[in-house]
Amino acid sequence: MKLHEYQSKQIFAKYGIPIPKGRVAATASEAKAIAEELGGRVVIKSQVLVGGRGKAGGVKLAKDPAEAEQLATQILAMEIKGLPVRKVLVDEAAAIEKEIYFSITNDRAARKPVMMASAAGGMEIEEVAAKTPEKIIKLHIDPLLGLRDYQARDIAAFIDLPREYWKDFNKIAMGLWQAYTQTDASLAEINPLVITKDKRLIALDGKMIIDDNAMFRHTDLAEMRDLDEEAPAEVEARKYGLSFIKLDGNIGCMVNGAGLAMTSMDIVKLFGGEPANFLDIGGGAGADKVAAAMRIILSDPNVKAVLLNIFGGITRCDEVARGILAAMKEVKPKVPMVVRLVGTNAEEGRKLLADAKMITADTLADAAKKAVAAAKG
Ligand code: GDP
Ligand code: MN
Repeated sequence: MKLHEYQSKQIFAKYGIPIPKGRVAATASEAKAIAEELGGRVVIKSQVLVGGRGKAGGVKLAKDPAEAEQLATQILAMEIKGLPVRKVLVDEAAAIEKEIYFSITNDRAARKPVMMASAAGGMEIEEVAAKTPEKIIKLHIDPLLGLRDYQARDIAAFIDLPREYWKDFNKIAMGLWQAYTQTDASLAEINPLVITKDKRLIALDGKMIIDDNAMFRHTDLAEMRDLDEEAPAEVEARKYGLSFIKLDGNIGCMVNGAGLAMTSMDIVKLFGGEPANFLDIGGGAGADKVAAAMRIILSDPNVKAVLLNIFGGITRCDEVARGILAAMKEVKPKVPMVVRLVGTNAEEGRKLLADAKMITADTLADAAKKAVAAAKG
């Protein structure tokens, strides 16, 4: 689950990381009121769950409450990378001396968290990472020992942080590490962490991603989920307990079991196709779950064919067939559907589907070939 900037910064503050004073607003008049409360210059920041808001014009400085209202009106009417702006954060503006990049994420290959920092922080960090990666320090953290003081000092030295800030930086590094581990995050990022002209270190921007699999032990964080900002298909999938990930291809895949789903996607690729999604309907899925899965797959306009690969173990093929029929009645798919059913009650399942004008296949390879051909029209 991605958190908004204002939510991430609230978590940072809990762990002792300094953040600017400010609050979130849903209307321009609220934004004006917050600007009046804060006094002085403020920054109006679109709250959308994508990066690069600054470059898209979604972060703007206002000199007074009237301008804050005007800019909030403008930003609240924006769409950034396809996401409508529904809230703005109104923060006390900082006078920036220097922008630093600072984050912790998971390094899967190393099987350890990794802390990253760069003196070249701010909006160009992607470019820095691509063109001059030597300007970014990466330091692995032993998950059992945690972040050590000397590591925080190594980072401070690498980014040429003046000595007077080292004590505060150490606190911020420890705070970020605590925030990262205690919320089961997969990313905790401050970009930029700034040195202000009046010589303070402040987290100006914040981004956190919480591991969905750990959400059961973070009921307070679960409440932060912004359904308005998430892809509707993913919201729907979660509701039915389906594991669904949207991809860019045009062959919708409905499979039971994560391993079989990945295999099905590989075979689709092997025969020259591109999967439109990963979807595991899970073991023992009943008709309603299957119907939901079909609705989700078919809601993607890129989908030109659907491949159903069901191995009936605990899942019964006739139940799946009933789900498919129910969903077809409801969504009336216009794309060809290729189905491979094997295992428990496969015969009954096939009989149920016989009238449904579906393309049947006996093996996975056969099914993948037929789906690729069908998608090509
Ligand atoms: P992002 O583009 O989505 O990462 O949004 P950020 O919150 O990082 O803001 C983008 C850029 O706007 C920052 O890198 C800063 O250069 C600038 N910015 C943000 N807040 C302030 C502020 O309070 N004062 C000043 N002067 N610039 C700011
Ligand atoms: Mn940023």
